[in-house]
Amino acid sequence: MKKILIVEDELNMVTGLKDNLEFEGFEVDTAMNGRLGLEKIMQNRYDLVLLDVMLPEISGFDICKTARKEGIKTPIIHLTARGEEIDKVLGLEFGADDYITKPFSLRELLARIKAMLRRLPAEKEENNEPEFINIGKIRISFKNYLAFEGTDEMKLSHKEFEILRFLYKNSGKTIHRDDIISAVWGIDYDITTRTVDNFVLKLRHKTEADPNNPRIILTVHGIGYKMITS
Ligand code: CA
Repeated sequence: MKKILIVEDELNMVTGLKDNLEFEGFEVDTAMNGRLGLEKIMQNRYDLVLLDVMLPEISGFDICKTARKEGIKTPIIHLTARGEEIDKVLGLEFGADDYITKPFSLRELLARIKAMLRRLPAEKEENNEPEFINIGKIRISFKNYLAFEGTDEMKLSHKEFEILRFLYKNSGKTIHRDDIISAVWGIDYDITTRTVDNFVLKLRHKTEADPNNPRIILTVHGIGYKMITS
């Protein structure tokens, strides 16, 4: 049975979500403040976390940032309030995998949850992928979401790994920004191409010897990007 943690401080929301998710066959645990939520994430194994952003004690973003820093790779879906457009982008950069805006329908949430849970085993099945590959100055394992520069571990967010993986798989080809969005976020997202550009900027800083003169993730003007691996 898949185990989901709900971190949310609105009692009605927690109760409603818990009942519905249990009805759908999930095992559900709950935390009603940020501190407890973070504790539970660190101490238990969940298949997925639904994480409110505005929480007492520790915000959803800080929970996410801390959990990722500690190597927790559990998929996280942020529950954001309407009008938190900037927050969505921020949340994804802090290592969340997805977000859903309140108020949302149960059907929409279930679709997101199922899509997220489906994605995981598929990634693990890619056994013919070499353990570590070199991209610029880093060595990276897409299987285990690990990256090293020399002997130092380099922190990459889940999305950064996914974008790198997508570009790597398509090395040598020109990739449209929209293709990156649909491959990494999915099609029904209001992620802008600007967000993709921001991620690429950050990835260049992490992979390129000279981020201002990229040799690995090249810009293809008016279209998108192309990765060059040797
Ligand atoms: Ca809240």
